[in-house]
Amino acid sequence: MEHTIKTVTVIGAGTMGNGIAHTFAQYGFAVHLFDVQAEQLKKAQATIAKNLDRQVAKNTISADEKDKTLSRILMVTDINQAITNSDFVIEAASENEQVKLAIFKQLSTLCSKDVILATNTSSISITKIAAAVVAPERVIGMHFMNPVPMMKLVEIINGYSTKKEVTETVMVLCQQLQKTPNVVNDYPGFIANRILMPMLNEAIYSLFEGVAKKEEIDSIMKLGMGHPMGPLQLADFIGLDVCLSILQVLYQGFGNPKYAPCPLLVNMVQANKLGIKTGEGFYKYDRK
Ligand code: NAD
Repeated sequence: MEHTIKTVTVIGAGTMGNGIAHTFAQYGFAVHLFDVQAEQLKKAQATIAKNLDRQVAKNTISADEKDKTLSRILMVTDINQAITNSDFVIEAASENEQVKLAIFKQLSTLCSKDVILATNTSSISITKIAAAVVAPERVIGMHFMNPVPMMKLVEIINGYSTKKEVTETVMVLCQQLQKTPNVVNDYPGFIANRILMPMLNEAIYSLFEGVAKKEEIDSIMKLGMGHPMGPLQLADFIGLDVCLSILQVLYQGFGNPKYAPCPLLVNMVQANKLGIKTGEGFYKYDRK
């Protein structure tokens, strides 16, 4: 596989998709940002512009770089247009196995076999996603952190069949994006979420059992452990639905009750209190 990547397709324009599109465009790649919901693309465009403005205000990029970055992103709702001339695809759609399997099956028939198909999944098996694809050796996990333009880490996940050349190409891509890749193997939650999610779940259990108030739980972890955000605040930031999906993957994947999602988390997701994105989670947020 000889790879010179110039055009990148990003599937899904939510929290992560807009950040991934922003970052690739900032470092000179042409980006096709695809979503099934036109409304999400509109929101993504506004979010990217706002985040670029913030970078201009902080003098990390110039106003000209902001304009060039925006001009490199094409918003599309047609999958055929999204993959036209694309050298690399990264999927950042909702954390739902059925949704991802359907997307990869479609990509498998639409993209030529030498196009690398990456997924930003937080926890779903790369090997399982790859099994839905012709040439599974080109499927890899490329797990960016939120907010993507700011966070240096990319967790690279090799599926059972991922080819060495694919991993090497993705490592080079990370360097081009000024990110630091760390390579791990494909087991539930990989490394980042296998360690993070039980901590967030334990914080939610502590609240559920009345051990302390939410402010105390967050303050103890911030001041005592030097964490930049408390665990409940972080869960709101990630999205409680995303946290629940990841815990379910860990629980089912290891068959160990220590990963069972706290009933309070389950209830909050059912009540659509998903954190920042719906205006309320453990805390309330002003949508503006
Ligand atoms: P989100 O809910 O903010 O956005 C998901 C987007 O996918 C929505 O815009 C939705 O319209 C779109 N979508 C749904 N089905 C689609 C389809 N078939 N084709 C194209 N688009 C589709 O979710 P998010 O938080 O951005 O998460 C996206 C992925 O990134 C998930 O796999 C998640 O686990 C992972 N992730 C999330 C975080 C985080 O902090 N939120 C961090 C790292 C990784």
